[in-house]
Amino acid sequence: METQKIVERYTEEMTALRRHIHQNPEISNKEFQTTKLIKEKLTEYGIEIAEIGLTTGVVGILRGKTPGKTVAIREDIDALPMQELADVPYASKVEGVSHSCGHDIHTTTLLYCAKVLSELKDELHGNVMFLFQPAEEKGSGAKQMVECGFTKVLKPDVFVGLHVSPEYPAGSIGLKRGPANASCDMFHIKITGKGGHGAHPENCIDPVAISGFVLSQLQTVISRENHPVYPAVMTIGSIHGGKAANVIPDYVEMGGTLRSLNAESREAMQKAIERIVTSSAEAMRGHGEVNWEIGMPPLVNDGEVIDALRAAAEKTIGADHIITVQNPSLGSEDFSYMFPEFGPGAQFRLGSGNDVDPNTRHGLHNSKNVFDDTCLPVGTTVLVQFVRDFLQ
Ligand SMILES: [Zn+2]
Ligand SMILES: [Zn+2]
Repeated sequence: METQKIVERYTEEMTALRRHIHQNPEISNKEFQTTKLIKEKLTEYGIEIAEIGLTTGVVGILRGKTPGKTVAIREDIDALPMQELADVPYASKVEGVSHSCGHDIHTTTLLYCAKVLSELKDELHGNVMFLFQPAEEKGSGAKQMVECGFTKVLKPDVFVGLHVSPEYPAGSIGLKRGPANASCDMFHIKITGKGGHGAHPENCIDPVAISGFVLSQLQTVISRENHPVYPAVMTIGSIHGGKAANVIPDYVEMGGTLRSLNAESREAMQKAIERIVTSSAEAMRGHGEVNWEIGMPPLVNDGEVIDALRAAAEKTIGADHIITVQNPSLGSEDFSYMFPEFGPGAQFRLGSGNDVDPNTRHGLHNSKNVFDDTCLPVGTTVLVQFVRDFLQ
């Protein structure tokens, strides 16, 4: 039977399940009830659960009729620590927590991939791994799953997944070859001087003046050092020093984020930031240091996997519902800890906006955004078709 016909039969129950998850969101690494629900559903669908020592999150395994390759489908399950302000009857029941990144849709889509593929297992030559990932919003969940060794249970030959996109209409998907999301590193700068009376700078080393200089010099990292064809962004989002107008403080602290679509330019910019901070501070008699929180690598979609997703979508939702995405996003996505390191992969965008309700267009991480959940069968259909084609 055609994939979309099989999936369509579940549209109503998918919607109900998604709204239930939406009403009961849980923040990163606290997805206990969501994990319990996923395990119950997978067991009901006859999916094996691999115990790899995850506190939250689930790895489900479906073995087809005969041995063969393994497709890993990965979705994230966590919510955000923000109050939902969307006016929907199924709004979050948890104060200060909401699925404003649409991971409730991701979780439901993956559960129904498991259900439908389990029904189709006699036609599959190979295996499907269902990776329900915790803590994407913290940027650590994919790494946690890798460290728990899910690739040792079964070695995936390909990774696929989706992320909702309010900018595209529900019913469509967006495909982007190559770089799709940026790497994300955080850095903390401390400029130390010598504090004292504001009337006697000659007895002090002023970290505020040094910080002003460092801040402006850092702007040259992207404008003067980074290759202009490699998109990157650096933002210093916090700067704190001193408490009184007539006191020179001992130190100033700054915090920032560095994002890049290219591994080499990322490394070069990290080095440039350190060089500028330490050398500029030294030139002004102070001391500068940088501490890094190295985050996820850029997400780079494999061209062949994107082509296979396109073929699956053409067969099911039709070519006029496929959007070729031109620009990458400088936002990050920790799926990049899984591919290409453990196999080729791609993530597509699942349209969740519509032209009737402007509230569907606010965007991700916006407390008022409404996700058009008619996208549920669309995402499930494309993923199921991809697996059917890959394991034929
Ligand atoms: Zn998010
Ligand atoms: Zn997200």
